[in-house]
Amino acid sequence: MLEFSYTEEQKILEDMVKKFTKNEIIPVCLEFENDLEGKLADEIFKKAAKIGILGTVAPKEYGGGGGRGIEANIVLENLSYGDVGIGCAIGASWWAQTAILMRGSQGLRDEWFPKLASTEEAHLCCMAATEPSGGTDVEDPAMGFKTVQTIAKIDGDEIVLNGRKMWPSNFDIASLYVVVCTTDPKLGEEGSLLVAVTASTPGLSFGKNELKMGHHADRNGEIIFDNVRVPKDNMLGKVGEGVKILERTLIYNRVGPASMALGAAQRAFDLALDFTKTRILGGIPLYQHELASAMLFDMETKLHAARLLWQRAAWVNMTTKGNIHYSHMAKVFATDAAMEVSSDAVELMGSYGYAKEYGVEKIMRDVKIIQIYIGSNELIRSHAWRYL
Ligand SMILES: Cc1cc2nc3c(=O)[nH]c(=O)nc-3n(C[C@H](O)[C@H](O)[C@H](O)COP(=O)(O)OP(=O)(O)OC[C@H]3O[C@@H](n4cnc5c(N)ncnc54)[C@H](O)[C@@H]3O)c2cc1C
Repeated sequence: MLEFSYTEEQKILEDMVKKFTKNEIIPVCLEFENDLEGKLADEIFKKAAKIGILGTVAPKEYGGGGGRGIEANIVLENLSYGDVGIGCAIGASWWAQTAILMRGSQGLRDEWFPKLASTEEAHLCCMAATEPSGGTDVEDPAMGFKTVQTIAKIDGDEIVLNGRKMWPSNFDIASLYVVVCTTDPKLGEEGSLLVAVTASTPGLSFGKNELKMGHHADRNGEIIFDNVRVPKDNMLGKVGEGVKILERTLIYNRVGPASMALGAAQRAFDLALDFTKTRILGGIPLYQHELASAMLFDMETKLHAARLLWQRAAWVNMTTKGNIHYSHMAKVFATDAAMEVSSDAVELMGSYGYAKEYGVEKIMRDVKIIQIYIGSNELIRSHAWRYL
């Protein structure tokens, strides 16, 4: 039998996040743009920690929700319905946590997961992969970290990091950083590694919060590593495993952009549908005009298809050892669909769609970057054969 429904626990989680989004995120979502210091988003993270949302994927033995792909993406889709910048900040934090779950030492897990699951304080992580010279090549396993310029030198019981990262989510507010680096870019995969760095480590500093087209609740900018020393225990796995670990984290975490893009686009659709029901043109509500009706039908179909694709990908990743091909189909389809749906929503609402007050143009700006980040759709499409 094939059942298209969540378990009772998953339904409770979904209801809880929907309520949170309605009460805490939607009322302030148009204000993130003017909140350059991120105070509003900070409040949301604290409230999300309090009810266990931030700890969704932290293991149960540390007080977390023990959630896996389906639960993580139920949360991300429904947070992103309110604001995808919030979804992105939390999803990116879980991307970094996946690496720690996979290959973090016992000491690192024991120290960090209780904090990441805490309901008293909000702790976010940062996955520091992209560099000023490019993000696509860093995420391309065929490049084997050959373009990575963040250098790790093993010095006795310590690792010394030097280099720069650009754009990572939570770049200046994270408590813990997972850094993509290499002992020597010429070595390719052999020199690749991931290292965890706590925010208070001397030598770690940050550039400015970059002004962007959307995703204002997410903070992105430069991270500078200037002789940052961490214990060797902070290495995730071993030298030479960085490429493989990053690739494995992407199997699970490329589903996130699909559910997030869908959540944002669903809201654009709902707003447009409501609008077209009350907008009377030519004597009848707009949605009853044939072309508008056809547009709305196609938009809704794309949303349903995107949801099925992320659910399918998350299910495959939970029931097998993971298959990035499904994650890729979900990521590319859902993010392209979100761009189309949000643009159509603006179109249907005319100048009201283009006006800031109605929030639909914001969604159109927000979803653009999801086609690009955590594996650009071009990279994924053009290299799809490598993953089969
Ligand atoms: C809101 C936001 C959140 C982000 N979060 C994170 C994060 O948490 N961690 C992190 O490390 N980074 C993060 N990033 C960075 C993001 O992942 C990168 O911007 C992305 O990987 C693309 O890298 P780039 O901008 O350097 O573009 P480039 O790599 O220079 O690519 C430029 C363009 O060329 C295209 N291109 C590249 N290679 C090919 C190819 N082979 N064929 C065809 N076209 C190609 C790309 O699709 C892209 O459109 C974030 C960025 C933003 C804006």
